[in-house]
Amino acid sequence: MKTIQNVNFKNTKALIRVDFNVPLNSQFEVTDDTRIVSAKPTILKVLEDGGSCILMSHLGRPTAQEPEFSLRHIVSTLETVLGVQVLFANDCVGDEAQAAADDLQPGQVLLLENLRYHDEETKGNHGFAEKLSKLGGFYINDAFGTAHRAHASTTIIAQFFPENKCFGSLLAQEIDSIDKVMQTGEKPVLAILGGAKVSSKITIIDNILDKVDHLIIGGGMTFTFVKALGGHVGDSICEDDKMELALEILEKAKSKNVQIHVPVDVLAADDFSNEANTQIVDVRAIPENWQGLDCGPKSKAIFNEVVQQCKTILWNGPLGVFEMETFSSGTIALGDSIAEATKNGAFSLVGGGDSVAAVKQFGFENKVSYVSTGGGAMLESLEGKILPGIAAISE
Ligand code: AMP
Repeated sequence: MKTIQNVNFKNTKALIRVDFNVPLNSQFEVTDDTRIVSAKPTILKVLEDGGSCILMSHLGRPTAQEPEFSLRHIVSTLETVLGVQVLFANDCVGDEAQAAADDLQPGQVLLLENLRYHDEETKGNHGFAEKLSKLGGFYINDAFGTAHRAHASTTIIAQFFPENKCFGSLLAQEIDSIDKVMQTGEKPVLAILGGAKVSSKITIIDNILDKVDHLIIGGGMTFTFVKALGGHVGDSICEDDKMELALEILEKAKSKNVQIHVPVDVLAADDFSNEANTQIVDVRAIPENWQGLDCGPKSKAIFNEVVQQCKTILWNGPLGVFEMETFSSGTIALGDSIAEATKNGAFSLVGGGDSVAAVKQFGFENKVSYVSTGGGAMLESLEGKILPGIAAISE
């Protein structure tokens, strides 16, 4: 894998695709600078080598050049994070951008205006990618969050830098973490898949059965499996049309020697509400009009035992409706278990949407080995897809 560590950027204008798609408040101030901070190591490496940086990103989903989506809003936060002055170009292509790039001196940073002010970006337009490519002498992709999109700045542009292209340090770390689970991870390997629906995780489950020794299935997905096996799930979320598929998954797991663990007990509620009445019941005997919204104490203990046995752990999706405090304890207990296993030497990767939110909310961020920054890109990697943004650098 060619990364920034293998390159000396002295006197080089590095054109870096970053992911500065950050949340802004009504005053257009950055409310979470995680993505900007994540890009810092790559930018500083180029500057410290004696090169300059031309940063390109999208922000939101503008349909025209709407001012609320201007990347100008993030300049001061970027300056604070990097500790250097940041120049800004009012467009990402055209005369102004080209002149600003041409004038750039070693040690300087130029941020280009929102790529998605041009619809050629998301269309993967060849001519637009070529114009962008003229701005720099070396292309770095450090935007994992958009690596699953064949957009002009994430994929198409790479062909104009046949030799001079590489992964930024964030993207390299993401690739490495996923490889550690899917290819090179120390056994036993465990995947924990939670969340709402079987249908959204089915391709992942299918692909992952070839890679893991244990699979914990939790969250709302549980009930499709339980009902398929003849249990009574009451009003719990259940995809009847996926029951056949659930049985096929169980068969396939058996044939591949993968041990599947599903909750044995649940915290059931008489309403989808934090104030609902609750009771712990057997997962196969949920009363009519009650729904399972978190896993129960026996399940927590079983899952903990599995987690402590494993050396490589992937976690995607909460084990209950963690957004409501009443149903958050299964997800918190799992986070505790993974934190303990990590402390004892396991490699743990958390990724994909809601599990990242849960990990942040409950303070596990620094207690796991790696938290992925890219929701969709992470899920597509787990599905076994080759991401176009990664392929374009590797080619
Ligand atoms: P996903 O985006 O597929 O990872 O799903 C995450 C969502 O699943 C979260 O919003 C959880 O509240 C929800 N979820 C987890 N467990 C359950 C459950 N037992 N019943 C309904 N929704 C659940």
